[in-house]
Amino acid sequence: MVLSIKAKRDELGLSTGELLIGGGWRAAADGRTWTHPHPATAEEVGAFAVAGATDVDAAVRSARRAFDEGPWPRTRAKERIRVLRRIADDLRANAAELQALVALDNGVPVSFGETYAMSVECVADVFDHHAGWVDKLGGETLPGYQGGEHLVMTLREPVGVVAAIIPWNGPLLLAAQKLAPALAAGCTVVLKPSEYATFSALRLARIVEEAGLPPGVLNVVTGPGEPTGDALINHPLVDKITFTGSRVVGRKVLAAAANGVKRTSLELGGKSPSLVFGDADVYAAATTTMGTVTLGLSGQACVAHTRALVHRDVYDEFLAIVEAMAALVNYGDPFHPETTASPLINERQMNRVLGYIERGQAEGARLVTGGGRADGDLAAGNFVLPTVFADVSNDATIAREEIFGPVLAVVPFTDEEEAVRLANDTSYGLAATVWTRDVKRAMRLTRAVRAGTVGVNGYQLEPHVAFGGFGQSGLGREGGRTSIEAYTEVKTVLIPTTEEMM
Ligand code: NAD
Repeated sequence: MVLSIKAKRDELGLSTGELLIGGGWRAAADGRTWTHPHPATAEEVGAFAVAGATDVDAAVRSARRAFDEGPWPRTRAKERIRVLRRIADDLRANAAELQALVALDNGVPVSFGETYAMSVECVADVFDHHAGWVDKLGGETLPGYQGGEHLVMTLREPVGVVAAIIPWNGPLLLAAQKLAPALAAGCTVVLKPSEYATFSALRLARIVEEAGLPPGVLNVVTGPGEPTGDALINHPLVDKITFTGSRVVGRKVLAAAANGVKRTSLELGGKSPSLVFGDADVYAAATTTMGTVTLGLSGQACVAHTRALVHRDVYDEFLAIVEAMAALVNYGDPFHPETTASPLINERQMNRVLGYIERGQAEGARLVTGGGRADGDLAAGNFVLPTVFADVSNDATIAREEIFGPVLAVVPFTDEEEAVRLANDTSYGLAATVWTRDVKRAMRLTRAVRAGTVGVNGYQLEPHVAFGGFGQSGLGREGGRTSIEAYTEVKTVLIPTTEEMM
């Protein structure tokens, strides 16, 4: 049966997506729109406005006004908490529609929404978590260091106008990880979703706005990197840029931020390792590792553990299990409950992944399974077969670069020292998981491996702890205290308590 998303698209009733500026929804000033072919079927998803420089300027000025003159930065904690909690409740109430919109946007199967980290429940939890920070955003009171008697205090104040730019692969969660702390801290925001996942982000924005935000606190500009994202990161009235996406675009963000000395948070990619020791539960290690590479997003996830470093004692066993798992991947209609994995987001990305597969073979890695496109009923979509390479050198391109597709590189090691050296021999440092039954070794490795999150015998995302990367995986963290503090400025206040100060 030929795949089609038309019925679902009509059922969800997509109208042309509009921009949210100053509390009102409107078309782009020049009337431009954009659409993309659905990654599973190549049918058109739906048109939405492309914000040009004029629209971006209007959105940033609206956020600026709402910050400088509006009530939100000065709103009492109780009211801000009420709004954030209402957003969380409304997200939960609209979970099925939101999940369907994600599948329509980017082809991620609705079944993946049952995984907590990809669920609307998790998105709602991010807002609930940050609601809890609103009345705890305090500074310090310190004794004076010199001069006459005085008090020294620090206050935490909202950083100002935030430009939030997100990728297509987790449009709800990644928007929430930026909106929730920004709003909790009292900032105003201009959100730019990815051009490959606009409709789910627009629905989320409507829920956020309707929860009781004053006009201009949340603005949304849709469109591609050029012209929309570029106009946003270079706008002089933006105080902070928070970006999740590729390292290539992350560098452009950093350059634009340097120009305006803007506060910046970057969540970039990864080449995360699984370190599988001889005493590990090899079945758990292999299925979990392969799950991050082939299930749900088909490896198009920043935390996909695409480098398996495996001790020679369990190497063959590990390979046999990941090969068997590749055969279980079920591509197809993203709305069908039995579909387990996504197509690649666009043709360009599919060709890029196929190019890496060719490169892997050319550089001498052994292709265990996969290595090409899926055909038959899947031929119109961007489906690449789950691919496993064995005997990969850690210096090979497929072990060094983020492929962003269902490709696992398996690298053998002999001892712990070599495993650590291989794990850390990367320009990234987002995540790692250590598989061993030896508690002491596990503890040693959590310290030795340089990554923002290290799992031991398992890996999961938690919405309330710091998430981010070492090295070129990014700057800053999202989740927990670090997340909310990144949306504040520290102000020091000096108060003399006697007549003679200094
Ligand atoms: P991308 O970098 O191509 O795009 C991300 C966003 O940046 C999109 O909204 C895009 O329109 C925008 N953009 C593109 N060019 C721009 C420009 N010149 N100026 C301003 N904005 C611009 O990334 P993608 O393909 O959407 O997502 C995949 C990448 O995201 C991967 O590298 C992945 O690892 C990373 N990612 C990281 C995390 C994390 O938390 N570390 C999470 C998810 C995805």
